[in-house]
Amino acid sequence: MTKSWNETQAGTKAVWAGEKDYLVHGATQIPVIPSVAFGYDDMDEWYEVAVGRKKGHIYGRNTNPTVQAFEDKVKILEGANAATSFSTGMAAISNTLYTFLTPGDRIVSIKDTYGGTNKIFTEFLPKMGIDVVLCDTGDHEAIEKEVAKGCSILYLESPTNPTVKITDIKRMAQAGKKAGAIVVVDNTFATPVNQNPLALGVDLVLHSATKFLGGHADALGGVVCGLDEQLIKKIYHYREINGATMDPWAAYLIVRGMKTLSLRMKKQEENALALAQYLQSVSIVEDVYYPGLETHLNHDIAKEQMKGFGAMLSFAVKGGVDTVRELLPRLQFSHRAANLGAVETTVGPARTTSHVECTPEERAAMGIPEGLIRVSCGIEDTTDILDDFKQAFQAIKMEQ
Ligand code: PLP
Repeated sequence: MTKSWNETQAGTKAVWAGEKDYLVHGATQIPVIPSVAFGYDDMDEWYEVAVGRKKGHIYGRNTNPTVQAFEDKVKILEGANAATSFSTGMAAISNTLYTFLTPGDRIVSIKDTYGGTNKIFTEFLPKMGIDVVLCDTGDHEAIEKEVAKGCSILYLESPTNPTVKITDIKRMAQAGKKAGAIVVVDNTFATPVNQNPLALGVDLVLHSATKFLGGHADALGGVVCGLDEQLIKKIYHYREINGATMDPWAAYLIVRGMKTLSLRMKKQEENALALAQYLQSVSIVEDVYYPGLETHLNHDIAKEQMKGFGAMLSFAVKGGVDTVRELLPRLQFSHRAANLGAVETTVGPARTTSHVECTPEERAAMGIPEGLIRVSCGIEDTTDILDDFKQAFQAIKMEQ
């Protein structure tokens, strides 16, 4: 008996899911179809496809076979019924919000969302007459209270960028449902291998595919998926008209990258846990944030809702920016860059990466010290990553 997708593990889905319908000429890999338009000799068939009554493609801003293969793979990995993709993760977030919000609406979220998302909440939505309420991340009672007052959307991110705070997704989904809100979770940090928010009761789950899904820092993309096909249809319609479409070349690169998602995550989180444990023993390190540490504020919730704790961690150093300036250039096996989720370890201060859009005061209000370093662990051998950080800390110590 062959297995349904529900019966397979994430590693198998990552390799095989969503591809079969797109393989042509006996190819074992999906083709890149860069064609902007798709032609028809039969005028009636063209019309049927154009009005959405028959499957097919008309124009690249709407749909594309390579891009659809990517959407199908994410859809199956997240246990969704429908998915639609975007040019970037921010396009997935903004298009999803703008699809459902109208002037006078209220949205509840948390203070610790990704910097770009936070800017939408603080700069763009208020200009549209939308009331934005940002609660302390992890304060579940406060979120429930605000949601109960009524809101159109409850927007969450867990773990958060960059201090990897955890929110109880199941509990928040119940609160959102009770208030009639659409509950959205940014699952970029966890990946579908480690966390499936739809199974915890949320309506929409989205990703920056630029990060762990692609995994090789060579393609930008975003995606949103859900159980309710009508919700996804509405977001798709907003995107097809507003135009933040995923490029077929990016879709191909991300699908290729996704085949190793499960393998990469296993190695990357092994490195993250080892590095987090080591950093706890370094005297110049003030705080270490990693949900896999028993000292993490919401380790128990993370253990309950995640299959693995992910590859992201951050730590705060004594001496703030001066120490950051000394430490980071000494690392041999880390990119100092504003990215995460790649096979190479990548480091950066929050003030120049995730929260560059914010003022120092705004960062302080979010509990992000200027000496906070975010680490996205790569797939390098664990001993080499540990040795690298050790030699960098050692070199600073000798100079002091
Ligand atoms: N969501 C999270 C959690 C992120 O970290 C990022 C970017 O770092 C985004 C969304 C935005 O993704 P993109 O850069 O693909 O627009």
